[in-house]
Amino acid sequence: MKATFEDLKGKKILVTGATRGIGRAIAESLAEQGAHIIFNFREGKEEVAKEMGEHLKSLGATEATAVMFDVTQTEQIKAAMDNFQKEHGVVEGLVNNAGISRDQLVLRMKEEDVAATLDTNLKGAIMVAQTLSRGFLKAENASVVNISSIVGLMGNAGQIAYAASKAGMIGLTKSLAKELGAKNVRCNAICPGFIDTDMTDALKEDTKDSYLSGIPMKRFGTTQEVANLVNFLLSNASSYITGESIKIDGGLYI
Ligand code: NDP
Repeated sequence: MKATFEDLKGKKILVTGATRGIGRAIAESLAEQGAHIIFNFREGKEEVAKEMGEHLKSLGATEATAVMFDVTQTEQIKAAMDNFQKEHGVVEGLVNNAGISRDQLVLRMKEEDVAATLDTNLKGAIMVAQTLSRGFLKAENASVVNISSIVGLMGNAGQIAYAASKAGMIGLTKSLAKELGAKNVRCNAICPGFIDTDMTDALKEDTKDSYLSGIPMKRFGTTQEVANLVNFLLSNASSYITGESIKIDGGLYI
């Protein structure tokens, strides 16, 4: 089921990590709402970006603009987004979705994997939000949605750095909500549980079954279900919700 949010039409929204998985579903769903989607791609992936732009426009996006940056490269973020805003005006929505996981038990975890995870998931999200914040102050109804994870709330063996980065995103969410709330800039996080993506497809059947046994709803979530929640949080239908972290996990962490 899909809800329509009229105010998303033409709204300029940056979705990071939109080329695959959950980010792609979010961008597609925003395209169906008629938003102006901005999505990043990494150097060398120009062809993927071109196809993505055409795909989003075919789904109904008012406009789809590809911008080249890696979320770990602050100079690239600033150059790309300053350029975009000079041409098109301020960005009014942000989905911090780009993320990686380098899972390992604590005793085996390598420093470079800890650094890469925190740099991408946490520092990247902060720097993208910082880059756009001046513009958010000028926008009428800016909204930021950070894609955290259920493990940011409950922790998980074998995911020490990933869980720490996702818990950090919740701190970032609450702080930005407090700093910018008076200017009608909202910031929320969502905490997905297991979502059907390439990552969950790759799991062995018995591993899948053991995860499913812990989920009251006995199924993984869909990327469309995640996108529905993100659309709601970006739109004015959620105009008095800020600083929240909303679980979308079929009851996994009750
Ligand atoms: P995918 O691995 O399918 O996609 C990740 C996206 O992030 C890709 O578009 C990738 O771009 C981009 N990305 C990664 N690193 C960087 C970087 N340094 N700079 C720019 N872009 C980057 O991830 P999922 O769709 O599974 O997950 C999306 C988000 O949801 C993540 O933050 C994840 O932690 C979170 N999440 C996922 C869950 C799940 O069940 N799948 C559950 C809970 C949370 P590229 O194509 O160039 O690599």
